[in-house]
Amino acid sequence: LVELRDLRKGFGEGEARTEVLKGVTLSLPQREFAALLGPSGSGKSTLLSIMGTLMKADSGEHLMLGKDLMAAQDAELTDFRNRRIGFVFQFHHLFPDLTALENVIFPAAVRAGRETSEQKARGRLLLERVGLAHRMNFRATALSGGQKQRVAIARALMNQPSLVLADEPTGNLDRENADQVMELLAEMNREEGTAFLISTHDAEIAAACHRRITLNDGRVA
Ligand code: ATP
Ligand code: MG
Repeated sequence: LVELRDLRKGFGEGEARTEVLKGVTLSLPQREFAALLGPSGSGKSTLLSIMGTLMKADSGEHLMLGKDLMAAQDAELTDFRNRRIGFVFQFHHLFPDLTALENVIFPAAVRAGRETSEQKARGRLLLERVGLAHRMNFRATALSGGQKQRVAIARALMNQPSLVLADEPTGNLDRENADQVMELLAEMNREEGTAFLISTHDAEIAAACHRRITLNDGRVA
């Protein structure tokens, strides 16, 4: 699914320059369910941003589904990202005044230029699967933290992405909600075949993944 070879990324110029990724080589197969580990500042979020085509590496190879993403133009990358990649962040980033269902289908509707009945059907199905059938028409502000994160997961899966990048998706949740969110991601992985790469500082979350990838000093340990 994803091939990274000798990927490098740094920030800043001259004396203020820091090299964050110093040659990351990694391959993720289809249906992967992996944790991304490493100390704070080791480059997990940077790597997820690059894998999500939100940021370009300075050098190295980055292929996804056979496409050379280092060579792709911005418009191509946006299109690729919209169709192939889903994101879940530590904070849910829902629109507070939209309902759960509206939040799930909004990005897809904006891209399509209208809201279709297929989108609504898919949005409802996903909210049922994340256990929020009874909360579909509640505004985001009326949902608990765990419920909001489940809406964000449903939204990330809306377009049936091949890969979901989750940056500390349980970082803001208590143990019980964190475990529920992880169960949900694992279920989506099994049932939809979506690959997941999940950054976390939580040993229990890491243990629930099928593989653990650790960043240390800019490389995969
Ligand atoms: P955490 O576990 O705390 O979330 P992380 O592993 O996700 O850490 P990153 O956020 O990827 O780490 O940051 C890695 C390093 O890159 C840090 O030293 C950070 O200061 C630096 N960095 C990240 N983004 C930028 C940026 N846009 N400009 C300058 N430096 C940056
Ligand atoms: Mg981070």
